[in-house]
Amino acid sequence: MNDAQLSELGDITLGISACVAGENVRFDSSSKTSHFCMKELGNYVKFKPVCPEVAVGLPVPRPTIRQIRKDDVITVSRPDGSGDVTEALAEYGKKIGNYSRNLSGFIFCAKSPSCGMERVKVYSEDGKGSTSDGVGVFAREVMKANPLLPCEENGRLNDAIIRENFVARVYAYRKWQLLEASGLSKHKLTTFHSQFKYTVMSHDLIAYKELGQLLARADLPLEEMAEQYIHGLMAALTIKATRKKHANTLQHIQGYFAKELNSDEKQELCEQIEEYRKGLVPLFVPLTLIRHHLRRFPKDYLKKQFYLAPYPAELKLRYGM
Ligand code: SF4
Repeated sequence: MNDAQLSELGDITLGISACVAGENVRFDSSSKTSHFCMKELGNYVKFKPVCPEVAVGLPVPRPTIRQIRKDDVITVSRPDGSGDVTEALAEYGKKIGNYSRNLSGFIFCAKSPSCGMERVKVYSEDGKGSTSDGVGVFAREVMKANPLLPCEENGRLNDAIIRENFVARVYAYRKWQLLEASGLSKHKLTTFHSQFKYTVMSHDLIAYKELGQLLARADLPLEEMAEQYIHGLMAALTIKATRKKHANTLQHIQGYFAKELNSDEKQELCEQIEEYRKGLVPLFVPLTLIRHHLRRFPKDYLKKQFYLAPYPAELKLRYGM
C-alpha cells in the first residue's frame, strides 16, 4: 500500500484495552503493554484506549474481580461476591459498542473478566473450581453491538498468521466504512467486490463465488444486498488462509503474466510459489516477484487487488507466514 492509498483511508482508529495501550490501570497498577500495537501498528493507526473497570468507578489499584457462576448466571465481583459490577460493565460495553461505528477494529486484553474475548475463567460459587469458557462482560457487549468490527486479543496477536489476518481485516473494514460513507451504489459494490477477488480466494473460494452470486441478484434492495455482502465478506476473511490456499491464489495471479514472461521467468515464479507452498520461504517472496512483474507489465485489474497490498508493507506482516 503506497502513501497515496494510505492517505485515502484517512485516520484509522482502533479501540484498545487501556492496559494493552500501556496505561497502568490494572488491579495492581501495572500495564500489559503490547509492543506490536504501540510500536508498530501504532505508526499507522490511532488508538482509543478504554478501561471499563476504571470507567465504572473502580480504583487503581483495586481488589481483584472475577467471573462467578451461580446457577446459570455469571456475575463479575470480588471473589467473596461483594462489589458486583456486572451491570455497570455491560452498560459501559453498550455505550462503547454504539461508539464503535467510529472504530475500525478493537484489541482486547485476554483473560480479563471485563475485556477477555474468549476463554475467560469462570469460578464456581464456592471458588473451588473453574471453567475457561467465559467472555468478558465489556467485550461481549462491544462485539454484540457491532458484529462486523474486527476484534482480537493482545496475546493472540503474537501469532504471525492471526496478527496478519487481524490487520488485513481492519484495513478491509476501513475501506468498506469509507465506501458506505461515500454513498453506496450497485456499481460501487461490484467494483469493491472485484478488488477483493484474490483476498477472498486466499481464505475461501466458495465464499467468493457466493458473494458474486449475491451481487447478481435482482430481487434484493441495495441496502439489504450491501448488508448481506459485508457480513459475508468479513466472515470469509476470518477463515484461515493456508499456504495451500495462498499458493492457489498466487497461481491464478501468475496466469495474468502468461503471455509476457519468458520460460525462465515463468519457471522462477513457479518455483517460488512451490517453495512457499512447501513452507521453505515466506509469502512475501513470491509476492515480491509478482509485484516486480506487475511493474514491468502493468495490469489495472491486478494493481487494484487488495491482496497485493492490503496494508502498509512496512508492517512486514507477510514475513512470518
Ligand atoms: S483488562 Fe480491561 S478492565 Fe482490566 S485493566 Fe485492562 S483495560 Fe482495564
